[in-house]
Amino acid sequence: MENNNVKCLYCNSIYNLNGIFSHVTFCKKGPRGNNALLEAYEYYNKLDISSLINDYKNDISGKDLVKKYNVTYRIINIIFEKYSIQKRTTHESQLIAYEKSKIIKGLRYGNPLYSNFEKIKETKKNRYGDAFFSNRAKNRKTCQDRYGVDNVFQTKDVIEKIKKRVKNRIGLLCAQGA
Ligand SMILES: [Zn+2]
Repeated sequence: MENNNVKCLYCNSIYNLNGIFSHVTFCKKGPRGNNALLEAYEYYNKLDISSLINDYKNDISGKDLVKKYNVTYRIINIIFEKYSIQKRTTHESQLIAYEKSKIIKGLRYGNPLYSNFEKIKETKKNRYGDAFFSNRAKNRKTCQDRYGVDNVFQTKDVIEKIKKRVKNRIGLLCAQGA
C-alpha cells in the first residue's frame, strides 16, 4: 500500500492526505478554520493562490481552475472571499463558456459555430429517410418491457407522484387564500 501519510504542519501529528485537510481546520496549534485550510493547500498541494486568482481574472473558468490547481469549488470560494475577489455573474460565466466552446469547435471542426444538430438531422435522414425521425415505436417497446405500460406516465409510481404534486399545489394555493 502506498504510504501517503503527512505530518500536520502545526502540531506534527501524522495524517493521511485525506485526513490532513480536515484536521488542520481544528488543529489547536494552528490558525484553524479556512485560513488553516488554505495554508494546508499551499503546503501540501503546492497551491499557488496568486496564480489562481490571476487565471480567474484572465477568464479561466471555475471548472478549469478546479482541474488545474487540484482544488475544490469550496477552496476557490474561500480564496475569493479572503482576497475580496469579485465573482463573475452567471451571465459572465456563460459568456466565457460560450467563447471557450467556439475555440474548441474551431479547433475540432474548423468552424467555431459548428452545431451538432445539423449532423444529427443528416444521420437520421440517411438512416431513416426522415431528418426529424423520432423512434416512438422503440420507446414504447422499451417502456413495455421495463414497466409493462406504453409510456412512463402510465406507471403507478408516476401517477401517484403527479397526484401528490397537484394536491400539494392546490393545498398551497388554498393556504394562500387564492
Ligand atoms: Zn495539527
